[in-house]
Amino acid sequence: MSQTTTLTQPAVPATIEDFMAQAIAMEFEAVERYQELADAMETHNNAEVAALFRKMSVIENKHAEQMLAEMGWSEIPPGTSAQRWEGFESAEVVAMDDIHYLMTPWHALQLALKAEQRAVRFFEALTEAAQSEPVRKAALELLEEEREHVELILGWLKKVPQPDSDWYEDPDPPRYDT
Ligand code: ZN
Repeated sequence: MSQTTTLTQPAVPATIEDFMAQAIAMEFEAVERYQELADAMETHNNAEVAALFRKMSVIENKHAEQMLAEMGWSEIPPGTSAQRWEGFESAEVVAMDDIHYLMTPWHALQLALKAEQRAVRFFEALTEAAQSEPVRKAALELLEEEREHVELILGWLKKVPQPDSDWYEDPDPPRYDT
């Protein structure tokens, strides 16, 4: 399903249009993943964690819409994102494999934190690699935005209890008998 690629120096899109198209696509990917995670948690009656992932999906969606508006686009223009950045897929996306149905808000937030920190590193690299001033500025803005997401999650983390080390022991485990 999800592949872990190491974040290497991304190949930088030359134009601001290409850059934003890629960045917006990445945001929407993050939105989708956070929604999937929320759905998965709901399926397992973990409403608390579902709500946190739902909240992150709303935040990322707002961000993506904002970026579209900035470009004066109603959607990502076709043809702009032909070439994907290296390491692109893994940048802001929580890996489905990391999800456990008994996870607590603390775990969910750790995963979200990792994803957002990856996004920060990603845009940091892009800021340095950018070949043109508009691209560099746009990358810098996104970098700031992602840093805010990290701060937000760190703030939430302070408010949730850290689970015991035996959190994954289910007293009433689900059965998969046929
Ligand atoms: Zn983010």
